[in-house]
Amino acid sequence: MNNFAYAKATNAAQAIEQLNGNTQNKIVAGGTNINDLLKYFVTQADKLVDINPFIDNHAITPLENGGVRLGALVTNADTAYNPVIESKYPLLSKAILAGASAQIRNMATNGGNLNQRTRCYYFYDVNTPCNKREPGSGCSAIKGYNRIHAILGQSENCIAVFPSDMCVALAALNATVNITGPDGDRVLAFADYHRLPGDTPHIDNNLKHGEIITGIDLPAKGFEKNYSYLKLRDRASYSFALVSVATGLDLDGTIINEARIALGGVAHKPWRVTAAEDFLKGKEATQDNFAAAADIILQGAQGYEYNNFKIPLAKRAIIRNGMMALNPDSQRPGAQPSL
Ligand SMILES: Cc1cc2nc3c(=O)[nH]c(=O)nc-3n(C[C@H](O)[C@H](O)[C@H](O)COP(=O)(O)OP(=O)(O)OC[C@H]3O[C@@H](n4cnc5c(N)ncnc54)[C@H](O)[C@@H]3O)c2cc1C
Ligand code: SF4
Repeated sequence: MNNFAYAKATNAAQAIEQLNGNTQNKIVAGGTNINDLLKYFVTQADKLVDINPFIDNHAITPLENGGVRLGALVTNADTAYNPVIESKYPLLSKAILAGASAQIRNMATNGGNLNQRTRCYYFYDVNTPCNKREPGSGCSAIKGYNRIHAILGQSENCIAVFPSDMCVALAALNATVNITGPDGDRVLAFADYHRLPGDTPHIDNNLKHGEIITGIDLPAKGFEKNYSYLKLRDRASYSFALVSVATGLDLDGTIINEARIALGGVAHKPWRVTAAEDFLKGKEATQDNFAAAADIILQGAQGYEYNNFKIPLAKRAIIRNGMMALNPDSQRPGAQPSL
């Protein structure tokens, strides 16, 4: 770890001033990711700006439109166990609780979760080429051990996946991200927040340097009657997703009025294909229809030597999660699917 200065900010204006346009000045919130990146020399900082003293972004508050605002500094644990989130957005609660460990969720913040970096082994190993860590150096994963890597949306420069569970549910729920920065406030649709690697894999998302996430807004519709989050991983106790699926259904009997399906562990961002959701509109919620939707979602999927298994696994996960969403009682937050 290199030496760095440390500053506290009690509001966004102070944080923006401390960041001061220097890309080596970085925000720290829960510290569960950035501290590791610093320790392993994956990233460097001149100054860490601690935003935990922010007064305004520690609450979960109702919105006039019937939705809910998640403060950026609310911890993942406090979000998942918030009674409003548990009852109105159980898909989100369940996705958060599928991630990390209780200790990490107690420290990790909502804003930090959106900005956590990939878990590609080569990204963390500073002795290997990695375009994300060192642009232009090459990608060690494409011909290396690529079991955890992408099957959708990847590029010849990077096949890393975005590892969050929480963000898969936020994508399915059509959340929006509230941002403030030197040029004022702006709001980004969740689908526009994270980026595909293209030829700039070192840029994970569309947050500009000096900008701060202040909150995440959930629309009124929470799919609390029919939802499911399924996470498939190497160890059920504690591991990142190989494939995860967040499904929300709005049903009229067994007919689908609206479907939302987002995938995690398969791409550089949570993966949603609206054509598949449109296909399901007005259809019976059956295994066959979820299978057809899965084929649309997985169109163009490409595996590598060690992760080809993800393509059929993702298809089965989409079908299974669609069927699990029909039975809300088995989907209460904290319940683990029997695998
Ligand atoms: C062992 C381990 C296992 C894990 N397993 C999982 C898992 O299974 N699923 C999962 O989803 N996650 C998992 N995580 C990741 C964890 O959820 C993230 O590390 C955490 O959410 C990051 O939040 P933080 O507040 O600690 O962020 P920090 O580490 O403080 O910051 C992370 C990044 O976000 C930036 N940042 C933080 N807050 C803001 C803000 N408000 N505005 C702008 N930028 C900001 C920081 O500058 C930094 O770049 C795991 C982590 C560990 C260490
Ligand atoms: S997949 Fe991306 S993060 Fe991993 S080695 Fe290649 S460029 Fe780096």
